[in-house]
Amino acid sequence: VTEETVRFGKPSSDLPLINALEAGFRKQLVKYKVKESKTLVKHTETNAETVFVDLEPESEIKYVAGDHIGVLAPNQKDIVDAVLERLNGVEDLDKIVQLQVMKETLTPTGTVKAWERYERLPPATIRNIYTRFLDLTTPPTTKVLKYLAESCTDEAEAEQINELVSDSNKYHDWVSFHYPHLAEVFEQFPSCRPQASLLATLLSPMQPRFYSISSSLLAHPQRVHLTVAVVTYRTQDGKGPLHYGVCSTYLKNLKAGDEVLAFIRYKPSFHMPKDISAPLILVGPGTGIAPFRGFWHHRRHLIKNLVSHNPGPVWLFFGCRYKEMELYKEEKDAALEDGVLHKARLALSREEGSHKKYVQALLEDEGAEMTRLLTEEHGHFYVCGDCKMADDVEQKLKEIIQKHGDMTEEEANDFLESLRNENRYHEDIFGI
Ligand code: FAD
Repeated sequence: VTEETVRFGKPSSDLPLINALEAGFRKQLVKYKVKESKTLVKHTETNAETVFVDLEPESEIKYVAGDHIGVLAPNQKDIVDAVLERLNGVEDLDKIVQLQVMKETLTPTGTVKAWERYERLPPATIRNIYTRFLDLTTPPTTKVLKYLAESCTDEAEAEQINELVSDSNKYHDWVSFHYPHLAEVFEQFPSCRPQASLLATLLSPMQPRFYSISSSLLAHPQRVHLTVAVVTYRTQDGKGPLHYGVCSTYLKNLKAGDEVLAFIRYKPSFHMPKDISAPLILVGPGTGIAPFRGFWHHRRHLIKNLVSHNPGPVWLFFGCRYKEMELYKEEKDAALEDGVLHKARLALSREEGSHKKYVQALLEDEGAEMTRLLTEEHGHFYVCGDCKMADDVEQKLKEIIQKHGDMTEEEANDFLESLRNENRYHEDIFGI
């Protein structure tokens, strides 16, 4: 595609934004009304923050504790505005258009040229295309940079960008130091004037963000609760500008009455077992606790309403850096009192004056009884959070089982394998 073979043309229909997003993301979306978005915990020194979001769907939804919600967030307005200001070939930012590409077909009578719909982008306004459909915050690929160099009116700037394109070391150093979003790239190269239509074909599509649902429909009919760690970081070795995670910042800034577009994603491998008497061991540091709140809400409802008898033991292992960051403390205490939770252990990894501890160490403390629950009582083991923690927890569990189950390393490996095969080892991994 070149500047000559892509354009914004007339759309065949004026799709409302929600339908355009459904077409673009290939998902059936539900509109949610925000009931509340509030801070759960905030660390005074580091400003690290976790928020709670309560959403009410406009049409009926179904999910089970352990499922995810996929949220479609817009790019931050100031980044979008700064980008739009620099684009060429824009007549009206707020008129619905259809991105089109020129297709050439060879026929017996010669080449036929025709404008065709660009499949990846549905009809939308240019403002919405850049707000909702395109990823503006991941640093640009070399393919995007190559085009930005072509669009520079200043030779020296073009040369600078082309050096990044042709020297992968330079490119990686630049990305890891600046981690620049598109508005910052434009700031660094002021003569860049890309064409809005061609740039839209080169940028990566915006991705939905997933959150583990923190509620149960039994306890809160037609509601979805989210537990969200707000992502912020400074680039340039901590001395650069503050960057905000797209979706977590959007969720944090929501006000009651705002609208959110989202879809449910089922995660049957992370549901609770049907048999309520089966012991549950839940390991979720940080926002890894999110799905487990849904679990204890669900069980509390079943137990209080005498739907289920003989509930098995539920052990929760939570960890965070500082005492101040402990999530759902009061709820956990109440659940312990009600007999919905039987153990709720806490590991603090950076609290001054207390021993640096991770969830793995807590598992070790409870090793003997935990092994018994898993080997003799048909217990289920759940781990939720980042990939590294999940690996460490698995390794630790293997050691614990080997020790307390009197097994060889191979037998412990086999036992863990059997837990997985029997769908008793459940993982919900957030990413790296
Ligand atoms: P983004 O805009 O996506 O920014 C994050 C990116 O910024 C990182 O990938 C990294 O590239 C960059 N970055 C971050 N920190 C730095 C740094 N210090 N230096 C340089 N670059 C950096 N999150 C929750 O809070 N709660 C949940 O319940 C939850 N459940 C999840 C379930 C699943 C299945 C998955 C896959 C993820 C889950 N997540 C959850 C994570 C969530 O989906 C988002 O990834 C998270 O909220 C960040 O999204 P964002 O749009 O705010 O940040």
